[in-house]
Amino acid sequence: MAKIVAENLEAYHYDVSPNLDGVFDSVYWCSHCQIPLLVHECPLCHSKARRCARDLKPVFNRERELFESVTATKLPTFLFANRNYVYFEGRTLFAFSADPYGEPRLVTHKLDQLNNCLPSVYQPEYAQRMWELCLQANRTALEEIEAGAIEFIHREAERFSDRDKVVAFSGGKDSAVTATLVKKAIGSVPLVFGDTTLEFPNTNSYVRKFAELNGFQLFQAEPDAKFLNLCEALGPPSRIMRWCCTVCKSRPINKLYSRLPRDVLSFDGIRRMESSRRADYPRVAHIQKFSRQVAARPIVNWSSFAVWLYIFTEGLEYNPLYEYGYSRVGCMYCPSNTPFSEYLTKLNFPSLYDAWTEYLIDYAARSGKEDPKSYVLEGYWKRRNILKQRAFVVEPSQPCGPQDDLVYSFESLITDELVEFLKPFGQLSILEGNGSVSFVVGSGNPFMITGVTGDNQLSISFGRKHTRLIRMQIEKQIEKYLNCVHCGGCAGVCLQGAIAIRDGRYSIDGNKCARCGRCVTTKYLKEGCVALNFGIAKKAIRR
Ligand code: SF4
Ligand code: SF4
Ligand code: SF4
Ligand SMILES: [Zn+2]
Repeated sequence: MAKIVAENLEAYHYDVSPNLDGVFDSVYWCSHCQIPLLVHECPLCHSKARRCARDLKPVFNRERELFESVTATKLPTFLFANRNYVYFEGRTLFAFSADPYGEPRLVTHKLDQLNNCLPSVYQPEYAQRMWELCLQANRTALEEIEAGAIEFIHREAERFSDRDKVVAFSGGKDSAVTATLVKKAIGSVPLVFGDTTLEFPNTNSYVRKFAELNGFQLFQAEPDAKFLNLCEALGPPSRIMRWCCTVCKSRPINKLYSRLPRDVLSFDGIRRMESSRRADYPRVAHIQKFSRQVAARPIVNWSSFAVWLYIFTEGLEYNPLYEYGYSRVGCMYCPSNTPFSEYLTKLNFPSLYDAWTEYLIDYAARSGKEDPKSYVLEGYWKRRNILKQRAFVVEPSQPCGPQDDLVYSFESLITDELVEFLKPFGQLSILEGNGSVSFVVGSGNPFMITGVTGDNQLSISFGRKHTRLIRMQIEKQIEKYLNCVHCGGCAGVCLQGAIAIRDGRYSIDGNKCARCGRCVTTKYLKEGCVALNFGIAKKAIRR
């Protein structure tokens, strides 16, 4: 079967209905009915609606109570929010922020617009009545975008009929909607939940509940390596060094996929409006870090408002964390979490918050930070960048003899794990004797690598061709060997499923390895080695 490449996939475009012009970048407000709309003419009263915000999400009761303490004001029950702004009757009521220590505060407000409100807007029945109106008014538009999503799912399922279908289920609202749409379109398919082990406890129980309630099979993928062990080896993740996404999320999912008989078509709930980084995401893509997967995104153009309307219309079970006020429900300890969501964690999950904060402070102290507490509490840990510390532990030299030969002298003895890293370079021949193993990789190639485990030298005879490129690739593999923390992050680049971590040791299955070179090329290096990209200090070859 021909391999699918991103360029082919991105050529597909699915237009939205012209009737829904503007659905995807604005929410409108009918000032007569006092409800938000997907369209700019109110289907109930036919008056022209005005643009209210780029997007909106509901403010839940628990969240509203929190805002009441921040604003010291009793608030109406039918409220919406977009980022740090809270809206009442389609206008900004106040904006809040969180200080560097994660405490919320009021930035600006127009709370005096509440002075003329009827007492009924503070009653729970008011919100209930308004939601009924809101769902009724948006029903037709929602049905139209639902039909578009279902048509898209049908089309992609047919186009990739030779693949197993799954839904990438994160435990967030978008994946709940995606799973529901996929089930309506093509029936129940397994949900794949990548449990990073950094999820909120509520997310884990919610995922199981959603699968059970809706009759989905659940595939759960967990990392082999322990998060805190890797924090010790690589340093806590930061916004720049998000190694956990590779190790705790992509790698376990890749491992799960490698056990499936066929490649995978995964429907995910990614939306372009989620962030500027996602604004240009294609609707169908082959993502480099998931070698066996094509991703299809039925709701890529939906707003958060449309997603919530769909959840309430369909009566879907959603993650209870949204009711606490989280706008996104990702990992508890993510360096990309906003100060406000950190505040919510501190408030609602104090023991989990304290455990992570204490670990960060301890790590900062051990790393020699002057004021570890402020460094952590003021969020500087999230900006931690790659340290360029290097220790040269391998010296190359050129012995007398053929011009292109090199000998690498290691500071410590070579172990048989190095042989695993060299397998992509050619046929391996092994000669065992007296507790050591002599190996030759690539006999018959224009270049050849020879060494003995328990010795400290590795020789490479380069042929005339490809010398620079091959040398660079071999040296990169040697550096992976020197720095490997056995996180398994690189296994996903191998389309043959040949790379594995077994009993805490890196291995390449020589029978599976097709010597395609993916794991040794610079193009795949970002996913290729977590330790080389993010390690605190690097053992290196002197060049
Ligand atoms: S903590 Fe953040 S960076 Fe790490 S896996 Fe979770 S989402 Fe990715
Ligand atoms: S990526 Fe290619 S070269 Fe590397 S282990 Fe897999 S098959 Fe072998
Ligand atoms: S080679 Fe790099 S990415 Fe692969 S297991 Fe070792 S540290 Fe992780
Ligand atoms: Zn109206």
